[in-house]
Amino acid sequence: MEYEGSRILGELPGVKHCITERSTEEPLAFSLALHTGEDPERVRENRRKLADFFGPEASFISALQVHGDRVYAVERQRSLGWKSVDEDLKADALITCLSNVVLTILTADCVPILLADPLTGAIGAVHAGWQGSALGIVKKTVIRLSERYGVDPGNLRAFIGPAIGGCCYEVGEEVAGRFRHLKGAVKAGSRGRPMLDLKRVNLLQLSEAGVPESSIEISPHCTACERERFFSYRAEEGCHGRFMSCIMSVEC
Ligand SMILES: [Zn+2]
Repeated sequence: MEYEGSRILGELPGVKHCITERSTEEPLAFSLALHTGEDPERVRENRRKLADFFGPEASFISALQVHGDRVYAVERQRSLGWKSVDEDLKADALITCLSNVVLTILTADCVPILLADPLTGAIGAVHAGWQGSALGIVKKTVIRLSERYGVDPGNLRAFIGPAIGGCCYEVGEEVAGRFRHLKGAVKAGSRGRPMLDLKRVNLLQLSEAGVPESSIEISPHCTACERERFFSYRAEEGCHGRFMSCIMSVEC
């Protein structure tokens, strides 16, 4: 099983993280989503394999992502392994200061962002499609981290994960118009339509929230260009598969 990782988070001894990759050797190409209509038993089989990466003490939080801007704080570890919170918890960002709690985000083009503060041990995981990005979800998550856990944004490290790149994300003018004020976020495509760079949008929002640019790493991978490694809703014209970005604090 292949996992993608971030250098900037990999340097932190108190943090364990991974981004899953597509695999032809696993059920459903190692999709991890329970809400997209695939056989739940096979998805659970994949989730159990992923659980081995984080160890027996870990418990997983997986919210139903609704393209909103709700930030949910996980304040207690309810049980080990995978919890069935998918149905009742609607949120697009998760934060916690608990160790052994794995925050997870499912994507297939949208931007996954993982956050970690080495000082307080607080972590966050964000799902930012164009709607969440237009609502400034990553910025709101940084604010919640500092309000709730006393995180200084200047200490935060952020990984902007594999997502559809500005090379492939053609959008309509109504979407592009939401981001034109952000330098370099929208470019003209070869077909004359605007191309949106959502990773850049989130980079700028993180900077605005006080995270130093030197503490932000951007994945070079475009999900639409690299369909053999990741799922791409756009490039596959709608797909059931989702890959997962996960982060856990080992000690708090
Ligand atoms: Zn691309």
